[in-house]
Amino acid sequence: MSSGATPTFAFEPSAHIVAADERAKRLVNPGFGRVFTDHMALIRYSEEKGWHDAKITAREPVAMDPASSVLHYAQEIFEGLKAYRRPEGGAALFRPDANARRFNASARRMAMPDLPEELFLESIRALVRTEKAWIPDNEDGALYLRPFMFASEVFLGVKPSAEYLYMVIASSVGAYFKGGAPSVSLWVTREYTRAAPGGTGAAKCGGNYATSLIAQAEATRNGCDQVVFLDAVERRWVEELGGMNIFFVFDDGTMVTPPLTGTILPGITRDSLLTLARDMGITVREEPYSIEQWRADAESGRLTEAFACGTAAVVTPIGSVKSAEGQFTIGGQSAGPITQRLRTALVDIQRGNAPDPHGWVEQVA
Ligand SMILES: *Cc1c(COP(=O)(O)O)cnc(C)c1O
Repeated sequence: MSSGATPTFAFEPSAHIVAADERAKRLVNPGFGRVFTDHMALIRYSEEKGWHDAKITAREPVAMDPASSVLHYAQEIFEGLKAYRRPEGGAALFRPDANARRFNASARRMAMPDLPEELFLESIRALVRTEKAWIPDNEDGALYLRPFMFASEVFLGVKPSAEYLYMVIASSVGAYFKGGAPSVSLWVTREYTRAAPGGTGAAKCGGNYATSLIAQAEATRNGCDQVVFLDAVERRWVEELGGMNIFFVFDDGTMVTPPLTGTILPGITRDSLLTLARDMGITVREEPYSIEQWRADAESGRLTEAFACGTAAVVTPIGSVKSAEGQFTIGGQSAGPITQRLRTALVDIQRGNAPDPHGWVEQVA
């Protein structure tokens, strides 16, 4: 696959396309991650051939040898981004180049081969063009794209795999948090950590999620929606949720978000909100914020808002925080004014309802 020119994807249409009326039914209330489209993108990698056989093909099960190394040593990374329906009917992506770069940063950390950015981008564009009828028409709806890559060499020795599969699947989604609750509740885990210095916290790998599930279960047991992790060394500094970054808003109008020191996933939503906040003249500091300070500031009223952010959940207000030491609430337990302003600013750019001063939106269909 030559570099430079736009890569071409062979098209193998599915023989089992979902009929338009059935698709319409599935799009009414799709939830998150259960409704899938007819096709997927697929590219193979081997040490001899490099990336080859790029295609858009029917979404179907992948046959795997039981000795495929991902099943044993978890060499796997992924991305998540959305295609939005444009007011005039087309489809657009939000900062897909940032996902392409982060995918390769994750690949390097996991000793996997780089995927040329153009190949990553074209796989997504080609799939969105094929599947644009699957983008829901409603307010929170989008086509969630899930690029991922895993080790497919049939070998039980411990070493980086010599073969990989890269795929993109697409899922029609609505709001991530169902029920339309005005805010989410967080559980502060003291038992578990997500990422340690030198580890894989900044890589978007499945393994990070595997280790977070027990802490999420602890949160659920304690009646909370989501878990928030503290740093692994001092068990004191707030890092992030299992799959979302976090922001704090103070009564002097300033904001804080934890810095990217290698243990936090560098969210594209986080980065975009930093830019939008600064555009609005808001002072945002990237600095450590401790759990004790969080409690003290919430109780004194110095902290007025807190929210979590990510592609899937967009901007989600945090209403209460619970730990073994007790519970505290934040503001009015619903979206505060700055949270709302930032959320609207972001969503309006993503959906084409506001100008795009930073060139973040790419129209693809
Ligand atoms: C993907 C992810 C995020 C959010 O990143 P976005 O690019 O904003 O979607 C935050 N934390 C973790 C652990 C993630 O995997």
